[in-house]
Amino acid sequence: MAEKKKKRKKKECEGVNPPFTEEELIERLKKHFPEPKTELNFRNVFELVIVVVLSAQTTDKKVNEVSPKLFEKYPTPEALANAPLDDLYEILKPINFFRKKAERIKEIARIIVEKYNGKIPDTIEELVQFPGIGRKTASVILVNGFRKPAIVVDTHVKRVSKRLGLTCHDDPEKIEQDLAKFFSKENWAYISNALVLFGRYICTAKKPKCKECYLVDICPYDKKNL
Ligand code: SF4
Repeated sequence: MAEKKKKRKKKECEGVNPPFTEEELIERLKKHFPEPKTELNFRNVFELVIVVVLSAQTTDKKVNEVSPKLFEKYPTPEALANAPLDDLYEILKPINFFRKKAERIKEIARIIVEKYNGKIPDTIEELVQFPGIGRKTASVILVNGFRKPAIVVDTHVKRVSKRLGLTCHDDPEKIEQDLAKFFSKENWAYISNALVLFGRYICTAKKPKCKECYLVDICPYDKKNL
């Protein structure tokens, strides 16, 4: 029985075919998010790497509150690599898992200095070698720091992609593959940031704002219980 169910799910999951074109979706999103970008504040790619790592399981707002003080005291990878841990703990105290994150960013700074001569690498393969940087974080860095094509699959993108019928998978790598097939490469960076914001403000987790949503007529999500 369970095997049958599994097979049916697999079959249903083949051939994702949303009821709209890429152009149609992008055009509508662009009216509301002409130039979407991460809501984390940063002034250069080094700062971006650090704030993205700090933002895990914490709001962007909280990170934006602590990061100015952090970068005022430790503005470069060299400075951060040599920072006393106790001072980093003190600065990062308001955010979740501040001890672990303090150790992590110090280690990341050390690797940037020692292995990359102070420059941040710009490939996903290199970025995922850093502690605390997975594929999602690496993609955020590529998209927002280097303007390179990459697809960010965070909790918002995952939820929105499923509701819009862009994927039927739960596994982030499979979702990424579905999105990479549906969207042309030149739209990857745009769609990553746009879907994060769309998910954060419109297609929200608990109560999606379908009544005010500008995709309602093309969205296949079952809205009868809303
Ligand atoms: S209509 Fe509702 S479920 Fe569909 S994308 Fe908009 S907010 Fe999300």
